[in-house]
Amino acid sequence: MELSVTLTKQPKQKPADESKLGFGKIFTDHMFVMDYDPEHGWHNAQIVPYGPLEILPACTSLHYSQSVFEGLKAYRTKTGEIRLFRPTENFKRLNNSNRRLCIPEIDEAFALEALKKLLEIDREWVPKSPGTSLYVRPFVFATEEFLGVHPSSHYKFIIILSPSGAYYASGLNPVGIYVERHYVRAVRGGTGEVKAGANYAISLKAQDEAEKEGYSQVLWLDGVEQKYIEEVGAMNVFFVIGDEIVTPALRGSILPGITRKSAIELLQHWGYQVVERPLAVDELTEAYRDGRLREAFGTGTAAVISPIGKLKIDDLVMELGGGKIGEISQKLYDNLTGIQWGELADPFGWSV
Ligand code: PMP
Repeated sequence: MELSVTLTKQPKQKPADESKLGFGKIFTDHMFVMDYDPEHGWHNAQIVPYGPLEILPACTSLHYSQSVFEGLKAYRTKTGEIRLFRPTENFKRLNNSNRRLCIPEIDEAFALEALKKLLEIDREWVPKSPGTSLYVRPFVFATEEFLGVHPSSHYKFIIILSPSGAYYASGLNPVGIYVERHYVRAVRGGTGEVKAGANYAISLKAQDEAEKEGYSQVLWLDGVEQKYIEEVGAMNVFFVIGDEIVTPALRGSILPGITRKSAIELLQHWGYQVVERPLAVDELTEAYRDGRLREAFGTGTAAVISPIGKLKIDDLVMELGGGKIGEISQKLYDNLTGIQWGELADPFGWSV
């Protein structure tokens, strides 16, 4: 497929102070855009200056949320190379999301080539300071002008890039989370296991209440029995219980995180016993009371590893690790980020 390139005539000023990048507020000079219609399929692949889109008020995704997205990062190594971490996994997951939302699948290999081209053009936007990266946001949304509830006939697939700051400015930092008893995020058969934008809209209320209570995120339970641990806001979750590292099994309502998969593969490679199984919240309380709950951490693209220092289950507030970073959390963080920034060998060939 052809990819046309139109370079901007007005390049923007790049952020001077990389310590103030934050997340998701600054966008690069260019974006990738592609269209779908029934006659041509996916076509009209272009790299164009980043800027406004024209959509009509009846655009179906504005009303019925037929939209999906991905999130990954490009890293600058010490030698100036730009690297992506397992990007084929993201495009594969994007197509899983597309299928679930009745959106026509994209060509994954072409999408990766388009992303590489976009990165080549905007490579100077990949920040240079330690811990910083260029966040990559591919997304697909319905654009048909029609208020009927049905799969749209027209779509756009876009990739935008956003330089983002170091998640941990001064070393790993433990977070506080609580078990959400009132709201649910997903049920089996729903859309929890894909990256539908709507999943995030329905999670805002619980997130808002958690922040008001001084917690950073909520720990979701399964939406049916509200008995089993599922995942944290935008992270999968792991618990070190005795000699086992337990993470909830993917049973249809948890997002299969790429960091989760990488953590499992690394831990198994090191000889740890990792178990994917249903994990009841009561089992966790019991393990804590017996002194067997040694460590808890979240995994996700944003923070990579997020140690959980405080976990509240109803009236029980568990302090984990006594303010210290757990051994396994630290080891995973050091190794995953080492591979991502090209500082450690990449035995699995994850970097592209
Ligand atoms: N769960 C949810 C709900 C998420 O939004 C994310 C972030 N994509 C994750 C888990 C972690 O996935 P990944 O490791 O692929 O970033």
